[in-house]
Amino acid sequence: MEKTHREEKILVMVRLRPLNKKEIAANEATDWECINDTTILYRNTLRQGSNIPSAYSFDRVYGGECPTRQVYEDGAKEIALSVVKGINCSIFAYGQTSSGKTYTMTGITEFAVADIFDYIFQHEERAFSVKFSAIEIYNEAIRDLLNSDGTSLRLRDDPEKGTVVEKATEETLRDYSHLKELLFVCQAQRKIGETSLNERSSRSHQIIKLTVESCARELLGEENSTTLMASVSFIDLAGSERASQTMSGGARLKEGCHINRSLLALGTVIRKLSKGRQGGYINFRDSKLTRILQPCLGGNARYAIICTLSPSRFTTKARINVVMSDKALL
Ligand code: ADP
Ligand code: MG
Repeated sequence: MEKTHREEKILVMVRLRPLNKKEIAANEATDWECINDTTILYRNTLRQGSNIPSAYSFDRVYGGECPTRQVYEDGAKEIALSVVKGINCSIFAYGQTSSGKTYTMTGITEFAVADIFDYIFQHEERAFSVKFSAIEIYNEAIRDLLNSDGTSLRLRDDPEKGTVVEKATEETLRDYSHLKELLFVCQAQRKIGETSLNERSSRSHQIIKLTVESCARELLGEENSTTLMASVSFIDLAGSERASQTMSGGARLKEGCHINRSLLALGTVIRKLSKGRQGGYINFRDSKLTRILQPCLGGNARYAIICTLSPSRFTTKARINVVMSDKALL
C-alpha cells in the first residue's frame, strides 16, 4: 500500500505565490499551473514551438490563491505539533528571493505557536515550558537576533545535547502575543547595520527555534518524573539563486560561497535522508546550518520543506534547473 504523506518523515510541498501588482501592471504571465493537489505544470511560454508542458509531482502543491492557513493545516501543523509529544521537527522555506519564503514562514510560525499554546492550555495535567531563540547565519557567522551586541556566536559540541549555539539568548515564551513581540525584535535586528534589507535577507538563513519541555504535574519534583523535551525550528533559508550552478562561477563564487556551502550541504543531507539507509554516511559537519540542524534532521525527527515559487516568467527561467526533480530538489 502506498504511504500517505502523514506517515512520511519528510513532507515536500510547493507553493506558488500570486502575481503582485507590479507584475500584473507589467503584464507578466505565469508559466506555472497547479493541475491537482500534487502536480504542477511548467509551460515555457517564451520558447516558441515548445508548448509541451513538464509536470512535477510533490506531496502537495498550492496555487497562488491558496492562503497560508491551508498550507499550514495540510501538513506543517501536524509536524510542528509533534514537538509537544517530544519529537524534534522543523519546517523549511526554500526558494528564490522574493518567491514568498518569509511571507510563508512568518504565517506558519504564528499559526504553529498559537496551536502549541492551545494544546498546552488543554493539557493542564502537564506542566509545560516553551523557550524561544532566534539566530541568523550570514556568511557562516552566527548572530543572535534577540541580542543587539553584534558579536558572532560559536558552536559547541555538547555530549548530551549535540551541537549547541553557545550563549544564544533564550526567552521563556509566555503566550502568543509574546511571540509577536519577539518576532518584531528579530525583524528589527535583521535590518540593523545593513544598507539593504533585501540583500541581507536574501543571503542569510534565519532559524527560529522553540524548545518545548513538559512533565506530568503530579510528578513534578519527584525522582520518577520524566521530562519530555523537543524542539521545533522554523527556517527561512537564504535565496536559492545563490546555490544555483549559474551563480557559482567567477566573482560570484567568492561572494556567495558561504551561502552555497550551507545551502548545498543542507541539500546533500536532505537528499541522503530521503533515501533512507541507501543514502550512506551523512556528514552534518560541512556547514554551520547542517551542524545546528542535525538534531532536527536525524533520528526520529520529522520535517516539512515548503518550496516557494514566484510565478512571473522573467524570474522562473533559471529556476527550473534548481527546483525540481521529485523529492531531490535542493
Ligand atoms: P522571500 O522571503 O522569498 O524573498 P517574501 O516572503 O519577502 O519573499 O515575498 C515577496 C513579496 O511577495 C512580499 O511583498 C510578500 O508579501 C509577497 N508574497 C509572498 N507570498 C505571497 C502569497 N502567497 N500571497 C500574497 N503575497 C505574497
Ligand atoms: Mg525573505
